[in-house]
Amino acid sequence: MPSQYQLHVARWHDCERCELFKTRQKVVLARGKLPCDILFCGESPGASEDVIGKPFQGPAGHMLDRMIAQSIPKDWRLAFTNIISCFPIEYKGDKSKGIDPAYIKACAPRLKEFVEIAQPQLVVAVGKLSEQNVSTSLEDFDGKYKYVSIIHPSAILQADVTQRGLMYQKNVVTLRDSVDELVPF
Ligand code: URA
Repeated sequence: MPSQYQLHVARWHDCERCELFKTRQKVVLARGKLPCDILFCGESPGASEDVIGKPFQGPAGHMLDRMIAQSIPKDWRLAFTNIISCFPIEYKGDKSKGIDPAYIKACAPRLKEFVEIAQPQLVVAVGKLSEQNVSTSLEDFDGKYKYVSIIHPSAILQADVTQRGLMYQKNVVTLRDSVDELVPF
């Protein structure tokens, strides 16, 4: 019998709800352990994720993994996804103008379905765009889980070298504090 996640993949792997299907290589759904304690929700897949088909595979993902290793005990169950599941090639790595809200709206049912499967206690919005949109995309779940946001690792990588360490440590502290309030799955 297929798992809920296998059914989710079957439903979304060839999604054509927005125009990004025309240029993507792979739909990037999720990675991690299901159900999970903590769900990290990023913004959108980048070029590495588009090729590999999993979230947070490039330099930003490696930095996020390091932050997690420094803040969250190993036995916590973690999962990763994004607000949108296809690489918005038109932004070519520059998300500063924001991602077209039409893509976010089109992807909201996929994100909701994933959250129902993942059943997190805590959702970590990774980056401003995720912070602004996660609660709208997931408004049906209001009050069901805790919610926190962290600075996007890409923003840290692009920041002035004098700021990077502080931004990184801020995220580590935010994650440690948030986890302190949870009971493991
Ligand atoms: N990779 C992702 O999967 N999401 C992001 O937000 C950034 C890089």
